[in-house]
Amino acid sequence: VILRPVARQGDGMELQAVDEVLTALRARGPERAALFARADALRRERMGEAVHLRGIVEFSNICANDCLYCGIRVSNRAINRYRMEADEVMEVARRMEGWRQGTIVLQSGEASSPAGDRRLGELVRRIKAETSLAVTLSVGNRPHEVYAYWRECGMDRYLLRFETSDPALFARIHPDCSLAERLDCLHALRALGVQVGSGFMIGVPGETPEVLARNILLCRELDLDMIGIGPFIPHPETPLGGASNAYADDPDMHFVALAALRLANPDAHIPATTAFDAVFTNPPGRDLALQRGANVFMPNSTPGKYRRDYMLYPDKPCVDETGGQCALCIVGRLEMLGRSVDDGPGHSRKRPVEAL
Ligand code: SAM
Repeated sequence: VILRPVARQGDGMELQAVDEVLTALRARGPERAALFARADALRRERMGEAVHLRGIVEFSNICANDCLYCGIRVSNRAINRYRMEADEVMEVARRMEGWRQGTIVLQSGEASSPAGDRRLGELVRRIKAETSLAVTLSVGNRPHEVYAYWRECGMDRYLLRFETSDPALFARIHPDCSLAERLDCLHALRALGVQVGSGFMIGVPGETPEVLARNILLCRELDLDMIGIGPFIPHPETPLGGASNAYADDPDMHFVALAALRLANPDAHIPATTAFDAVFTNPPGRDLALQRGANVFMPNSTPGKYRRDYMLYPDKPCVDETGGQCALCIVGRLEMLGRSVDDGPGHSRKRPVEAL
């Protein structure tokens, strides 16, 4: 992967080379606290104090892939498979406007079929016609013409993590696709004028600090509009169920990674992802993430009855709550942190958003 040079900003706070990122990742004690403070200051300066809320609706757990880490992989027979009806998603979408969630993120497993692709396109059209929400899709690697069709339907953004920048490690944990194919999808989405989100899991077994540094810099090279990263959490019903997170002995490394990510990607939207709450409970990981570089929160807006069947990893938070409860909870959490909600769609800060 060739790193495109990015001009150093005036304040010299940006990390842009592997050795700079590695130095940040090695920070301990007071140096680590200083790194967190630096990331928080840069977030405040570039993205402001207001937090964008993007409600996630896990509309289907049907998946044809067998990723070695994922709780909804096709080989996991211990869950009930479901797919929400379009009317049910529309009902949630209409409520989200009142919950101050300017974006709906529609996420599912990867179960590609022409009929399913058309159904999802029609749903995007309905959401854009009947609400003011921005629409993000997160449904995996798809043929580029399918992305083009969804774009025509009104899709604003797409989330597809590259998971790890190491091609060999990627191949070991993804029997169904290569890193090159996934990066190709991200380039195709960018060419369509879609706002592109990607990211990685932190601490996949076999990840070295060098790989982590390159993950962070690949986000920079891809010039991503949004970057979601979160701890790898072993799921017992998967082949990696017995493995440990690479930072099991030093869990705060997950925040070090997040802070370094902000310092290398000053203008990207960075969510405090759900998995941080599964690993850190007191104080909750997502609250800490918002104080160490993140500026976006993704409340779970999936109807309660489906949540236990979308357990990507154990201890996923909020499985016994409803979308309304999560919506209320997050506003309270932000108040406690002295942060406000940004009511707008929270589009990319990096480039003009192309109207359709
Ligand atoms: N199928 C789509 C895809 O792969 O992009 C979207 C759904 S996928 C379940 C969403 C994300 O869940 C993945 O990008 C992955 O990073 C995360 N995930 C899955 N299993 C995980 C685990 N055991 N620990 C942490 N994150 C996990």
